[in-house]
Amino acid sequence: KSRNNHEPEFLQAVQEVAETVIPYIVNHDIYHGKNILLRMVEPERLISFRVSWVDDSGEIQVNRGYRIQMNSAIGPYKGGLRFHPTVNASILKFLAFEQVFKNSLTTLPMGGGKGGSDFDPKGKSDNEIMRFCHAFMSELFRHIGPNTDVPAGDIGVGAREIGFMFGMYKKLKNEFTGVLTGKGQSWGGSLIRPEATGYGTVYFAQNMLQRKDDSFEGKKVVISGSGNVAQYAAEKAIELGATILTLSDSGGYILDEDGISTEKLKHVMYIKNEKRGRISEYVDKYPEAKYFEGERPWSVKCDIALPCATQNELNGEEAKQLIKNGCMCVSEGANMPSTPDAIHEFQKGKILFAPGKASNAGGVATSGLEMSQNSLRISWSREEVDSRLKDIMEDIHDSCVEYGKNDDGSIDYIRGANIAGFVKVADAMLAQGVI
Ligand code: NDP
Repeated sequence: KSRNNHEPEFLQAVQEVAETVIPYIVNHDIYHGKNILLRMVEPERLISFRVSWVDDSGEIQVNRGYRIQMNSAIGPYKGGLRFHPTVNASILKFLAFEQVFKNSLTTLPMGGGKGGSDFDPKGKSDNEIMRFCHAFMSELFRHIGPNTDVPAGDIGVGAREIGFMFGMYKKLKNEFTGVLTGKGQSWGGSLIRPEATGYGTVYFAQNMLQRKDDSFEGKKVVISGSGNVAQYAAEKAIELGATILTLSDSGGYILDEDGISTEKLKHVMYIKNEKRGRISEYVDKYPEAKYFEGERPWSVKCDIALPCATQNELNGEEAKQLIKNGCMCVSEGANMPSTPDAIHEFQKGKILFAPGKASNAGGVATSGLEMSQNSLRISWSREEVDSRLKDIMEDIHDSCVEYGKNDDGSIDYIRGANIAGFVKVADAMLAQGVI
């Protein structure tokens, strides 16, 4: 702990895993005396670099770039890049650590990594974004490769940014390879990749509900965020017969009691993806909806909550409120959106709770499918990728059930995800010796 005690988010993520994995290690002799967890919490490599670029007014700007190569025991490092002013080593190490377990759960051969920059894309012109992405890749390119480390998108990094970074990588290496995922359709991207994290979060919840002979049909759903994950979680939940009441961004949330229909969701996509505007603009077109500035949506009465914005966005008090209002299922689309207090409340309330490393693994799983298609030089159809995604989410759910079953038959999805993710990586590390 002393080595990392200035990194609160990283410690939070490690503690959550340690609480469930240490008892498992204690009960399994093969892991004794191997210091497996101690090795897992130390990144294999932590790269930090200067990114200098010129803004539209001709001024030189400097940002800090990172890539955390956390664990490559079961495959090349894989994990997203985040561009957000809050990015620092603690946040990226927590995300990289979670990613190791998540990637292991997908059943695909991918190690864990994460990266990004404290660059703020908000308010930047397309040209500034391009110059920044090119500058960022002009250093990152020497540390990654299709068999070494394959980054993807995350907060602030979507198709546009992946395009600019891919262009620079290709120029510098003089090769066209699947070094990034989330690429455009015509240049190596996979169908369903943009949808995959949101769809997967809903598929995971669907699996949890099915175990209780329940479904999304007729359910009221509260979603936070309005970016990539939130948009497609909403799309899939609507398709399954649910009513979406809220979406949000860092400015506040909108509540539409009539439900955010497919048509209204298209407008949200226009506001956020094309216009790059704020969720508050929703009420300009749909005045029957209400906007709550500076607030989060967790006080709205619902059956299912899907936190899809960012870490620590749902605290203990808000969790209590959700349960009091009858919420019976929480599936995390974001990474670590629930604080430890919130998780404690969900467990105390005995509601269905899926931790992000299991429920949002559909994104990276589909990135894994994009890597396979790139290696095979083929593209699968939408139906093919979606059906593989569904199968993977079901497999992840079943692994959580296998390792997370309580004596009373209920499932501790946190314990299940942590142990199922741990076993595969730990066994590979044991086989590979002390390296
Ligand atoms: P986007 O950048 O597309 O959207 C992020 C959304 O969250 C925006 O609505 C943003 O609002 C909001 N948000 C970001 N930071 C904050 C904050 N500090 N407080 C309140 N709201 C905030 O990102 P994604 O949808 O891709 O990612 C969302 C979450 O899902 C992240 O936790 C990410 O790690 C996780 N995730 C993403 C995957 C993917 O495939 N994209 C895969 C697995 C997990 P605003 O516009 O105001 O910034």
